[in-house]
Formats: sequence, structure tokens, C-alpha cells
Amino acid sequence: MAVQRKEKTNPFEEMIQRLDVAAEIMDLDPDVYEVMKTPSRQIQVSLPVMLDNGKVKVFEGYRVIHSTALGPSKGGIRYSMEVNEDEVKALAAWMTFKCAIADIPYGGAKGGITCDPLKMSKAELERLTRAYTGAMSDIFGVDKDIPAPDMNTGPREMAWIVDEFSKIKGGFTPGIVTGKPLHLGGSLGRVEATGRGVMTATIEALQKMKLNPKKCLAAVQGFGNVGSITAHHYSLQGIKVVGISDHTGAFYNPKGINIEKAIAFREKNNGTLKGFKGGDSITNDELIELKVDILAPCALENQVREDNANRIKAKLIAEGANGPTTTAADEILDKKGMIIIPDILANGGGVTVSYFEWVQNRTGYYYHEEEVNKRADRWMRQAFKNVWDVSVKYKVSLRTAAYIFALEKVALGVKSRGAF
Ligand code: NAD
Repeated sequence: MAVQRKEKTNPFEEMIQRLDVAAEIMDLDPDVYEVMKTPSRQIQVSLPVMLDNGKVKVFEGYRVIHSTALGPSKGGIRYSMEVNEDEVKALAAWMTFKCAIADIPYGGAKGGITCDPLKMSKAELERLTRAYTGAMSDIFGVDKDIPAPDMNTGPREMAWIVDEFSKIKGGFTPGIVTGKPLHLGGSLGRVEATGRGVMTATIEALQKMKLNPKKCLAAVQGFGNVGSITAHHYSLQGIKVVGISDHTGAFYNPKGINIEKAIAFREKNNGTLKGFKGGDSITNDELIELKVDILAPCALENQVREDNANRIKAKLIAEGANGPTTTAADEILDKKGMIIIPDILANGGGVTVSYFEWVQNRTGYYYHEEEVNKRADRWMRQAFKNVWDVSVKYKVSLRTAAYIFALEKVALGVKSRGAF
């Protein structure tokens, strides 16, 4: 099918551009394309919440279900001032493709609330999370739509959702979310799963590139769940992490940053690296452009763009974050021969272990951590191989190959269910 391409950095349009490229190469059935380019449900809610000062503030909340062709929809909930309809739509579609690549029986969804969680008290965040859960109580369901943590949400928010949902529905329902605390039915290995998966995918790519991890340098942007754990697992593999960063700043140490010390520092420093002494202070822009072998953007969208792509020196980009590279940057980097492990493959370790958590909740049988890690590593290596093989078959980038692999699989679900 012939499609027009255009360059924009609206995340949903970026997603559509990538979908278009894959659809054209694989000659995707136009009916399936029609279904895939539009989310199946979009819910927007206004959430009045009493602030600690006694005043009421109304927050905007979103849930977008992109597809349920292969199973109940799955996707995290993000709290940020940047949350908007198009961002949530893109993230929901990426979840559909990510679950298909990870070979887990889910569709894709995403949720978010436009708020500044760093400026809100714990009590305000709890009231906001409960209001959102109440508003979405007919959308969420163990066999319908299963949320999880994303940026600025974690086990604490998931516990509030379990509690609120269980009260509304009248029965303890831990399987309604994944990424819960262990004592409420969370899975061992879930907290580490995304960063560990980024490391596994990186090692697989380095093997293909015939690079020895122990001789590689890495820079990791973002030092939250994904970034810090990716950096930690890189150093366990002998990769020297010379650059790390968070929203407060970036740090460079050519001798290698001691990641355990950086994590311990963050734990005692209000969750940030501000004031970290284990490296020289640099800017986040400089971090992206460091002379390293591996760049792992693990924070935000649109970090590798048309304006800085030519200055990127890494040989491999492992996208821990969702959407860190724009389509315009992709073209520049492809021409330079850079390998990019796309987000929908690289950060799929998290949703894989979320799936294990959901299975454990449903069966009531809980795995040991080694078992979870072993299964997740195997899943990730297989996903990487599947996408790599498609990239060789069609002579395309790993990103386009990932979309082709996912679309082939979702198309089977759409067609065989006879939705149209
Ligand atoms: P998080 O809230 O735990 O951490 C985000 C980190 O990014 C923080 O260290 C923050 O300081 C940093 N950051 C924010 N703005 C920055 C900036 N301008 N420059 C540099 N750093 C900045 O979030 P997370 O869970 O680690 O998620 C990060 C990304 O990974 C998001 O794109 C998310 O969608 C994606 N992701 C997360 C998971 C998961 O399991 N948590 C799974 C798949 C994908």
C-alpha cells in the first residue's frame, strides 16, 4: 500500500509514520491497517481532588485502549505535566506492538493523569489515584484492561488502585494491576525487569555487532526505575557506564561511575542525583552526545532528534524509554549505520514480567526470583532473535522489523476474530 510520510514530533503521528513504513514494506492488509491506526477506545475523565489546603483542583485523566485483538489490554499509568491525549494514544499503540513482540497474550493500553506529582503530597496523590480508579472502574478488569506503573507511578500507586478497585467491586482483586508490592501479590523480579531486559537486548545486539561488552562504554539517560537498573546491569556485565543523568543534571566519569554508589546516593537524596560527586557535572545534551559505544535513553520522549542525531557518537542505542528517538533522527542514524534497539523491543522485559505477575495472581502459585529472571531472559532473547531475523529478511532497521513482526501477529488476531 502507498502511504505519504511526513516529519513531526507529535508522538501519535510519529507512531503512525513508523506504522506506515512497516505496513508498506510488508504489504499489510489495508483493513488491518485501518484498525491499527486508530485506538479502539479513548476515555477522558475530570477528577476533582481535595488538596491539602482545602481547595478542590480538577485533574485531567486519560485511558486509551489501542487494541484487544490478542487479549485484554495492558499498559501503565503515567503522572506528568506532559501527559496529553496524543501521548497516551501513542503509548497505548506501542503497548499493542510491544506485547505482540514479547509474545504475551495481551492487547495494548496506556493511561495518564496531567499533574505534577513532585509538587503533590502523598495524601493528595492517594486521593488522585483513588479518584482515577473510581472513574475507570468499569474500564479496568482482570480480563479486560490491566494497568501497571509508568513514569512517576510505582508499587505504592498500584496498591492504592488494588484497594480502591477491590472496595468498589467487593472482593480482593490483586490481578487488576501489575507492578504491585510483593505482599499484595506482586512478582519477584518485576522492579528489575525492564532494566534487566534492556541489558539482555543490549548484550544480544553487541554479539551480533561482534563487540565485547567488557570493552564497551555506555551512557544512560534517566536514573529512575529503568535507567538506574539498566546502568546497574550494564556494570554487572562489565560494560563501563561513564555517563548517567536525571532531571536535575548529568554526570561523566571516564573511569566509570560506581552505579551502586549512585543508587545509594539517590536513595538518600530525595530520589535525585543532585549533588552527586561520582563524576563531573555535564548537561543532559552533552550526555546524549558522549563518545561511547552504547547510549541508553531511559527517561523521556524525543531525546534523539534531527538537531542532535548527527552529533551522536554511540554505535548502539538501546531505547529503555518509550519514544526517545524521532522519525527524522531515525533516518539520519540509519544512514550512519547505527543499530537502534527500538523501545517496543528493548523495554519489553517489564511487561513480560507483568504478564508473569498476572499469571501468578490468577493461579495463586508464586515463582522464585531466579525462575522469573530465567523465563524473562529467555523471552527477551527470543524476542530479539525474532525481530533480528525479520530485519535480515526484509533488509530493514530493527525498528521497522519490530513493527513488521508485531503487525503480522496482531493482524492474525484481528482477521481471525472477524472484527469487521
Ligand atoms: P521513573 O519515573 O522511575 O524515572 C524517570 C527518570 O527520568 C528519573 O530519573 C527522572 O529524573 C529522569 N528524567 C526526567 N526528565 C529528564 C530529563 N529531562 N533529562 C534526564 N532525565 C530526566 O520512570 P521509569 O519507570 O524509569 O520510566 C522511564 C521511561 O521508561 C518512560 O519512557 C517509560 O514509559 C519507560 N518504560 C518504563 C517501564 C517500567 O517498567 N517502569 C517499562 C517500559 C517502559
